[in-house]
Amino acid sequence: MQHDCIFCKIASKEIPVKAVYEDEHMLAFPDINPVAPVHLLVIPKRHISNLLEVHSSDGELLAHIMTTIPKIATEAGLSEEGFRLVINTKRHGGQTVDHLHWHVLGGRHMEWPPG
Ligand code: 5GP
Repeated sequence: MQHDCIFCKIASKEIPVKAVYEDEHMLAFPDINPVAPVHLLVIPKRHISNLLEVHSSDGELLAHIMTTIPKIATEAGLSEEGFRLVINTKRHGGQTVDHLHWHVLGGRHMEWPPG
């Protein structure tokens, strides 16, 4: 737990959210400022600052998250039309919260390339 990290506070329930999925390793909840009809955030409960801080010892955790996201997306009604999964990383990636997270975006057609 990093004390100044908002997603650590969400993971520890210090800041309450309406979780759409939770287990001992991860949490999924709606983004506070959605940019699509469905916009969920998926976080590991353990603090990892960004994708560059991931190590091979995190492989099991990442595999768990990546195999759970399709279930979360399906539960959110996104399996028929699909969705976009995004990990913003550091400044050029547009990362604003320094705790690794996946954006699950759906409910509308996504543009490419992203802005
Ligand atoms: P990033 O820009 O780092 O990829 O994404 C951070 C996301 O976290 C943003 O989409 C932002 O709206 C969301 N966010 C920031 N603070 C909170 C919060 O306190 N609660 C929730 N649910 N989302 C947050």
